[in-house]
Amino acid sequence: MDKPLQGQVAVITGGGRGIGRAIALGYAAAGAAVCCSSRSSTQLDETVALIIAAGGRAIGIPADVTDTASMAQLFAETDKAFGRVDIVVACAGDAAENKLVAESDPMKWKQIIETNLIGAFQTAHAAIPLLRRAGAGKMIFIGSGMGHRSGPTRSAYASSKAGLWMLVRILSQELVADNIAVNELIPGPVMTDFIKGREGTLGAGSEWLKQPEDVVPMALFMATQPATGPTGQTFSLARREL
Ligand code: NDP
Repeated sequence: MDKPLQGQVAVITGGGRGIGRAIALGYAAAGAAVCCSSRSSTQLDETVALIIAAGGRAIGIPADVTDTASMAQLFAETDKAFGRVDIVVACAGDAAENKLVAESDPMKWKQIIETNLIGAFQTAHAAIPLLRRAGAGKMIFIGSGMGHRSGPTRSAYASSKAGLWMLVRILSQELVADNIAVNELIPGPVMTDFIKGREGTLGAGSEWLKQPEDVVPMALFMATQPATGPTGQTFSLARREL
């Protein structure tokens, strides 16, 4: 099918740059109307302009995933603009603190959990009523291999993504009767602002240092599965054991 997401509406947190922007462009090219969200409106405006220049439909709504009211407003405004929500990609993420536990700044540690885990919960919490109203839907959470293996200095990030892994399982069980599939996408290392300064340590051995566009085919696959398709699963682009 030429436009497999025609008639559908997708909300993408972290849609201003990096992986979220690439997925927003990919979904719009597949026919979806897309609402991109992040804290910075400048980057959202750029994503929206790219989609519209390519003939797609998009809006950008600044929202902070750590703020409950702002997430409720994001979904209310998307509903107002496009009349429904079918697909939600929780991509907003933060990895600002990479320190040993003993040397971590507790406020920065909490901030990572608040963005990556509580932010994902808030995204789901605000999205569920609209997905239920649509009668079916897809929720895709951008996880990480670090949620599955330990590593010194990564306690905040790895703990947040390990929590996300469990949140995906529980949400999938809670929403299976509503035809809402909930799955995790693990991209493996991707060249974005997120890994700046660590590029040399990633993509080693059999691993593949991707561009954001390389994540799009998997994100499209996950968004286009039938109502009887997979839920509660992890789909990974990594080339090593998680
Ligand atoms: P980027 O830093 O390029 O993008 C992160 C996005 O999240 C930005 O749009 C940022 O916008 C947004 N964001 C951050 N904090 C918040 C917040 N509190 N509320 C709303 N939006 C927020 O990173 P990537 O594209 O690489 O990362 C996207 C996801 O992929 C993350 O969840 C990350 O954990 C995951 N991932 C990335 C990997 C990689 O190698 N790049 C590997 C494995 C997983 P703004 O700052 O304006 O709010």
